[in-house]
Amino acid sequence: MDADLNPEQAAAAGHRRGHLLIVAGAGTGKTRTLVYRLAALLDEGVPPRDLLAITFTNKAAAELRQRLIDRAGEAARGVVCGTFHGIAARWLRALGSWIGVNRDFLIYDEVDQRSLVMSLLSSGDDCTPGALIKALSATRLNPGMSAPTWDRAAKIAAAKLPEYRALLGAAGAVDFLGLLEAAADLAGAGHLPRFHEVLVDEFQDTDALQHRLLLGLAEHGSRIVAVGDDDQSIYGWRGADISGMLDFEKNYDGAERVTLARNYRSGQFILDAADRLIANNRHRLGKSLCGVRGEGAAVEVLRCADDRSEARQVVHRLETWSDEGLPGSTQAVLTRTNAQLRGLEIALAAAGLPYRLVGGRALFDTKEVRDVTAFLRLWVQPDSDLDLLRIINRPTRGLGKKAVATIRRAAAGAPLLPFLRAQGATLPNRIRRGVEPLLELLDPPPNHVSEGIERVLYDGGYLDWVCSQDPERGEEREANLLSLLDSAELLAGPDGDLAIFLEAWSLAGGADLGRGEGVRLMTLHASKGLEFATVILPGFEEGLMPMPDPEGSRFDHIEEERRLAYVGLTRARDKVLITWATSRLHHGRALPGRPSRFIAELAGDGVIGYAHHPIDGLRRAPLVTAPATQQWVPASDEFAQPDYGDEEPGVFAMGSQVTHSSFGAGVVQAIRGIGSSANIEVRFRDGSKRTIRASYLSPTQEP
Ligand code: ATP
Ligand code: MG
Repeated sequence: MDADLNPEQAAAAGHRRGHLLIVAGAGTGKTRTLVYRLAALLDEGVPPRDLLAITFTNKAAAELRQRLIDRAGEAARGVVCGTFHGIAARWLRALGSWIGVNRDFLIYDEVDQRSLVMSLLSSGDDCTPGALIKALSATRLNPGMSAPTWDRAAKIAAAKLPEYRALLGAAGAVDFLGLLEAAADLAGAGHLPRFHEVLVDEFQDTDALQHRLLLGLAEHGSRIVAVGDDDQSIYGWRGADISGMLDFEKNYDGAERVTLARNYRSGQFILDAADRLIANNRHRLGKSLCGVRGEGAAVEVLRCADDRSEARQVVHRLETWSDEGLPGSTQAVLTRTNAQLRGLEIALAAAGLPYRLVGGRALFDTKEVRDVTAFLRLWVQPDSDLDLLRIINRPTRGLGKKAVATIRRAAAGAPLLPFLRAQGATLPNRIRRGVEPLLELLDPPPNHVSEGIERVLYDGGYLDWVCSQDPERGEEREANLLSLLDSAELLAGPDGDLAIFLEAWSLAGGADLGRGEGVRLMTLHASKGLEFATVILPGFEEGLMPMPDPEGSRFDHIEEERRLAYVGLTRARDKVLITWATSRLHHGRALPGRPSRFIAELAGDGVIGYAHHPIDGLRRAPLVTAPATQQWVPASDEFAQPDYGDEEPGVFAMGSQVTHSSFGAGVVQAIRGIGSSANIEVRFRDGSKRTIRASYLSPTQEP
């Protein structure tokens, strides 16, 4: 059919008999086939707006659209292209009235969700906010399923779900799952546009609600064409459900399945290493990667003395490749955690090597940026109490806890900001003095998003205040806020529309606002579907890659970690460098590092080991020569015992003694997140319970 496709790809692109599932390994041209298929459909006269293409990230969607335009011309702009969440949000704005959703709804993200959930939990509930959030999602993803009786969080979630929904509704907000629920409802009831065909990339990572949405679309006449790879399913922890892929033919009448065999992306040494690695997974369809490009360069495994030396080695390698003429945009460093990226960012900045953080939420998640967006959100949705309460005393206006309690009592359940506007004058003097300047700042709404941000920062005195709060972080905060200002126009468009800005901001998580060109830095999760000439995979140590299961409850946790490593390896066209460190700093403590079991598993022909020697530089070492079973896994099964063992996640174990510089000694009650950026809930000696970043705590020295 097309000279640029091989016969199987062409058959998949030309298939018109009904629903179709394309299952194939990494780099076999799944996405390419999808693009060509879209172009062919346009060619056949299908109107662009009757085609819907869904992928996993905003970045992938933008790329897909561009590739399509390159192929099919300007007409292709009309194809509806986006992520599940983005498209669902669009539909909900346009069609929400069918299901009683006001078009001005806000999107609440995970941090907002946490605040909501905190207000749901009473002291008697034996459940952390994190566990409740997870359980609420699980309940909503599998509404029919009753949770096992021992699962306390699930029981609490089932009981609190109606209240949770009511809180969201009262604030005029919808959370991420809510977007999908609404879209699935709209699809089921036939309210969505009727698409000729719906194409879904990265189908292995769709969840139950997304499946319901697709089934609804199919029921009302759309053909579903899905492409995916079971070995790249890496979002199980977020509810992705591979069964939708395994049961495709059962779910969609007359559906057919095709596979693609040849990998066009990587050298064979890389593919063989990836194959050896993933062969250790038991839950998979089973296939191997056969390339067309010949052996290529060997996969390198580099042992470093510690994490700082590792970061320097990574930077050094990137510099070498750049000197050889390789553009930054074709080089990637892919990490297991966001925290690892910070260390690399610093090393890159110190070396003056430009980089770009892809898909990171760093900026977005800082307190200062969240505060300012809370103001912006109030302009769009004055009923959002969450946002009002966040900023009511920032900067300090004498509206502390007591004052807020008084206001809440007076408002008697009505949304607070409208109440303050209408009846603020009836409040006690002391409170009124604080409220008035706040109302002055908020009225009237700004015409342009930049105007709004500037008003908060300068007129409202927020910038000075937040920088003086913590002088050590002042500069960083200022830089973050200024980049928020810089990003405003980019997201809001030339009109500076606040609602568009907020929607883009919450969906993109502030992603891709980095510094333009430069080497790409991102987590493995964000790298799915992308392709680079060279890939560096740092931190291949037990306890980090694989990361231990924070709850120890997922039966296939290690397999998902392995799929992540597999995704990382298969991103590379030409070169892969894996690094690990024999010592890694976690919150000021150097912990011994042991090589990841994955290194042993991928070892074999075409994989060579090096040790970095501080004096001689690189030294070839017989690190990895024999297959895993012969050399790397001793009878005592040393890899089954992660080094960081009971100390993970983060450095602290539940119940361990910690010290904080101002609050004193306490005991760890709960851990959310991983490494030095984890949030640790601590009960202090004085009886107070606080959530504190791991990096601000130190372990109490044993006497
Ligand atoms: P992933 O599983 O990582 O998402 P994929 O299956 O979607 O990978 P693509 O990204 O579509 O694979 O293709 C991988 C690379 O191979 C791309 O650079 C693509 O242009 C190239 N490629 C795919 N098919 C062909 C072909 N028939 N001829 C030449 N190059 C091809
Ligand atoms: Mg792809």
